[in-house]
Amino acid sequence: MKPLEHLQPQLPAILKDLEAIVTLEAPSYDLAGLDRVARWIAQHFSPFGPLEREETPNGPLLRVSLQGSGRKVLVLCHFDTVHPVGAFKEPWKVEGDRAYGPGIYDMKGNIVQLLWALRTNQALGLGRPQLELLFTPDEEVGSMASRPAIESAALRSDLVLVLEAPMGNGDLKVARKGVGQYRLTAHGKPAHQGVEPEKGINAIVELAHQIPKIVAMQDWDKGTTLGPNVIKGGTTSNVVAALATVDIDVRVWTMAEAERVEREIRALQPVLPGATLSVEGGLNRPPMEPTPASTKLFEMAQRIGAEVGLQLGPGRVGGGSDGNFTAALGIPTLDGLGLFGEAAHQLTENVYIPQIPARIALLCGILDELSRG
Ligand SMILES: [Zn+2]
Repeated sequence: MKPLEHLQPQLPAILKDLEAIVTLEAPSYDLAGLDRVARWIAQHFSPFGPLEREETPNGPLLRVSLQGSGRKVLVLCHFDTVHPVGAFKEPWKVEGDRAYGPGIYDMKGNIVQLLWALRTNQALGLGRPQLELLFTPDEEVGSMASRPAIESAALRSDLVLVLEAPMGNGDLKVARKGVGQYRLTAHGKPAHQGVEPEKGINAIVELAHQIPKIVAMQDWDKGTTLGPNVIKGGTTSNVVAALATVDIDVRVWTMAEAERVEREIRALQPVLPGATLSVEGGLNRPPMEPTPASTKLFEMAQRIGAEVGLQLGPGRVGGGSDGNFTAALGIPTLDGLGLFGEAAHQLTENVYIPQIPARIALLCGILDELSRG
């Protein structure tokens, strides 16, 4: 029997698992909530192989090692969500063809997808590559605590599968922009605005001179964007502002563009006499650029997808994921393998129920093929 036929009648049981994991709410940094999900994952995945749990400042990190044949494959999942506890009036709801809940699409639902892919391949006697499953607690907040574990696991793997949500049209993700976060600070000098304003140096005015220069670093043709999206400065209105900061979001398709922006931001010169500038931050997630090896991996997934009725294209997306880290190490990475749905990070986040078996079957087929080398 093929995975898809095996999975269709299991849909009610799959939905039960989705309900169970989605109703365990786990926003990033909520250690109690993250612990509850981690225990659910441990309970369901430990039958497949030895499980290690590591405590990080951002929550527990779980690793499950599964024996298999063929390629060495790292699978990345995160179980934190962006939604505060109670944000959803009903943390689980099925309406029409869609199931709603916090993190069901990004990406706790995809942990259930992985679970059922493993169960199915086991039940049907299909192959399994050598697998390392990593479940991390802080992807939505930049993976600061998980990044070392992700990178060292990637370096001992042949390739990486990332179970983030697919594109809005269902395509997989073969390229992601790199994400940088910078803070530019202008340092001026305070003075009484009424008595001797000429003795002050206005940091807000200085920053106002810099912002057009920042925006001018954008390159729409290359997809490089700089968003000066948070600005703070000054103390009270009768004091010349001595300090002002702007936080800048940077997105790039290539490492070359990341380096150019880094160079130009650090080369900014003050305009007002006596003012100084300082720069903090840098590239948080390097760009995930397609390579011949990652393209081959995508083409394999595309072919297997077609066999289960999915038309999968190579998607490119501005948002980052943990796949950015592994791709930057030169390890072939395929992202967006999760369930089909919509409205990530929104209160209407959902997955499309009729396509759940096919998305699991896609993963079954990929794992089976990778077990043959
Ligand atoms: Zn995610």
